[in-house]
Amino acid sequence: MKFDNRLSAEGQAIRDYVTATLEEGRILGRLIDEDPDNYRVTAHYSLAQQMNRLGLPEVYNPTPIELANGEVLHELTVVQRCLFYEALGYVEPNLIFACPTPGMAGFVLQGLGNPEQQARFFSLFRDQLSWSCFAMSEPTVGSDAGNIKTQATKVDGGYLINGEKYFIGNGIHADIGVVFARTNQNSLGTDVFLFEPAKVEGFCRKRLPVHGVPGCNVSHLVFEDMFVADDALLGAHLKPTQRFSGAAIATFDSLRPCVGALALGSARSMLDYVLQHELIDAVYHQTWLKSAQFRLAGALQNLLAISARYDRGETVTKQIGLAKAKAAEIAELVVEEALHRCHSGVLVQDQMLAKLHRDIKCFEYAEGTRNVHLLNGAMLFREVA
Ligand SMILES: Cc1cc2nc3c(=O)[nH]c(=O)nc-3n(C[C@H](O)[C@H](O)[C@H](O)COP(=O)(O)OP(=O)(O)OC[C@H]3O[C@@H](n4cnc5c(N)ncnc54)[C@H](O)[C@@H]3O)c2cc1C
Repeated sequence: MKFDNRLSAEGQAIRDYVTATLEEGRILGRLIDEDPDNYRVTAHYSLAQQMNRLGLPEVYNPTPIELANGEVLHELTVVQRCLFYEALGYVEPNLIFACPTPGMAGFVLQGLGNPEQQARFFSLFRDQLSWSCFAMSEPTVGSDAGNIKTQATKVDGGYLINGEKYFIGNGIHADIGVVFARTNQNSLGTDVFLFEPAKVEGFCRKRLPVHGVPGCNVSHLVFEDMFVADDALLGAHLKPTQRFSGAAIATFDSLRPCVGALALGSARSMLDYVLQHELIDAVYHQTWLKSAQFRLAGALQNLLAISARYDRGETVTKQIGLAKAKAAEIAELVVEEALHRCHSGVLVQDQMLAKLHRDIKCFEYAEGTRNVHLLNGAMLFREVA
């Protein structure tokens, strides 16, 4: 059987749509690299409105993605989103993190929000450029989402939230977000609450210093008796078994392939960069170049195939984790191998090359580390056996 790694016509149209913003996207990326506080420059990005309503249903989304092939996309399948992220990773990975967008929190609202909660959250993005956060990771818990320590204590009319969150993308300036907290100690005791940082007390935040992709604005959030009203609890109309899995697992299943795709897009841009700027002897290394392009395209096809299964309603959580881990690994490998084939000294002389090499490390951690995906994957093989 011959492996066909070409994109579908729709896939190519999505890639072309995003890649048309290459020049402006990279200028914005440089401004964010200089100072992550410049995240607001993304308001001038020509896709700012589309990012701000990415994947929202038509009623909240007056600025859909309009492709050259005539397709108009409001809500996105995971396959379409993956292709979009891959192309954005090629243009500038800072953008996906720094742009206004419902992001991960949007998935939680789609899965768990009742109509009023969805209206509260999505109307914000319909009406203005807004930034969101998804506050799950904690300082001493890391990738172990099942072991969250933040507490939500029931009080008259609502809940008091106490705890800390770490590595929270856009936490420093989010207008709205979701926070995961324990309402009791049993394994089904994790719940999710909607909150608007400017409207609450008992909440503070600070930006964490990062080396790569500073546009992620990962932050440390501290909750000290932050009061949220009863209607902030998401998924109250669902069974406890559906809440945490509905919120966290569905969000991860939808976004993990996209983070893998971001990594692959970044690595693809590194390959094109070294070729276009003649930093590598393309004739001498032609066999390696072909293999690198082939591995990137193959890993993307792998992500798209798994995402298509998710879009069809299959449960593929562990396979998705493995595909994301593999994509991040291949992207890192290709970037390292490319660097070692470049003419000597280029890394210290070429800022863009240094940036591409620096940024590729971020995707291993975003959406879960490789070790954890491999451990989850091992469970899958045990189940099959
Ligand atoms: C750019 C970026 C954006 C992010 N955005 C968000 C966000 O918006 N919201 C959010 O909630 N989180 C976010 N995160 C956090 C992310 O999802 C991870 O939870 C976090 O990076 C884990 O960091 P840690 O140092 O605690 O790692 P740990 O999970 O402690 O892992 C540290 C090391 O130990 C290994 N390890 C961990 N557990 C095991 C095990 N059981 N067996 C073997 N090895 C193991 C890991 O592979 C890794 O090498 C973001 C992270 C990044 C990098």
